[in-house]
Amino acid sequence: MKAVVSLNSGSSSIKFALFTLDDAGNPEHSAGGKIEKIGIAPSLVARRADGTVLVERTWAGGAGLTHAELLKDLFDWAIDHLEGREVVAIGHRVVHGGMRFAAPQRVDAGLLAELDALCPLAPLHQPHNLAAIRAIAALAPSLPQVACFDTAFHHDKPEVAARLPLPRALHEQGIRRYGFHGLSYEYIAGQMQTVDGELAAGRVIAAHLGNGASLCAMRAGKSIDTTMGFTALDGLMMGTRCGTLDPGVVLHLQTQLGMSAADVDDMLYRKSGLLGVSGISSDMRTLTADPRAEAREAVELFVWRAAREFGALAASLGGVDGIVFTAGIGENHAEVRERICQRLAWLGLSIDVCANAGHALTISARDSRVKVLIIPTDEERMIAGHTLAVLRSER
Ligand code: ADP
Repeated sequence: MKAVVSLNSGSSSIKFALFTLDDAGNPEHSAGGKIEKIGIAPSLVARRADGTVLVERTWAGGAGLTHAELLKDLFDWAIDHLEGREVVAIGHRVVHGGMRFAAPQRVDAGLLAELDALCPLAPLHQPHNLAAIRAIAALAPSLPQVACFDTAFHHDKPEVAARLPLPRALHEQGIRRYGFHGLSYEYIAGQMQTVDGELAAGRVIAAHLGNGASLCAMRAGKSIDTTMGFTALDGLMMGTRCGTLDPGVVLHLQTQLGMSAADVDDMLYRKSGLLGVSGISSDMRTLTADPRAEAREAVELFVWRAAREFGALAASLGGVDGIVFTAGIGENHAEVRERICQRLAWLGLSIDVCANAGHALTISARDSRVKVLIIPTDEERMIAGHTLAVLRSER
């Protein structure tokens, strides 16, 4: 028996999933989990698909442990858990594939160098994604690794959705709208074929609402527009990121308030969004449970801006047949879904309040002109599938 591992390595967490391969070579989820609070007090939890805890641990003096050291311990645990099954490859989420990569790629030194050059475009994620690849290469030099890009799903969107209204030479240099969360949207597009083939062939806006948040306009399962652009700062208000912002604000912060580029960067990526507006938390659940006015204002702004971006993508699509909610908030937060949908009533959309409260697959009311679904995303499974496909293509 063989196995494949998916890794999604971020600044303070490493999410992972282990898949064993059945006789036909299809991945079956065996375990998944994450290491959280890296740099503060790292802890590891891994569970089976049914939620049973397989391992839970912390590290004495863990604050000083690097991603690479924690990955080594995770790797050792995974080998034990897989009980002799051979790991045939590791697939990684890599946020940015730049202009060139429209599909997953086998990792080699040349690819890593190209991806290194994209770090300034995704400073919150890309360096950590690549550090994990290097750490695994040091642990197991002959193990094939595959990079799966969050930008790839949006690679072939229409030119008009890719161009920024700036001098043309910049577009040629790569200063253009890429779009992110592509592995999640690709998974949703695939699931929709099974869940509702007719809707999958139509005009759908998928909403990935987690700490990072974006929308994707899909026609027949292909991305034609998305709210994130050149970087993952654009579009919706997020946990700590500002989303769409008048560029004049950035100029003002630097020229009038004397903030350095590094301080502005830190503010826009880490101190804005729900955290910045509330001054309380970046976590939606915490804020909706908090009675303070600042918490209410932050949630209201999140909902308002999400609804506004839904309107923009409805225009890109020329109408909407369906909406899909996914990720932490999209899958679990009934109140936020309901409030966004209330603001979209002008689309002829209404939801069934009970279905929404119960997190049902279909939450639109019977007479709603727009179908509204909740589909849990699974980026790790998408990565495993891509990784196996790359290996097969090499045979
Ligand atoms: P990430 O982008 O880090 O993967 P997630 O997709 O886990 O983030 O989303 C995190 C967000 O989802 C947080 O704002 C959190 O409050 C919200 N969330 C997670 N679980 C629930 C839940 N059971 N009910 C309501 N909100 C939730």
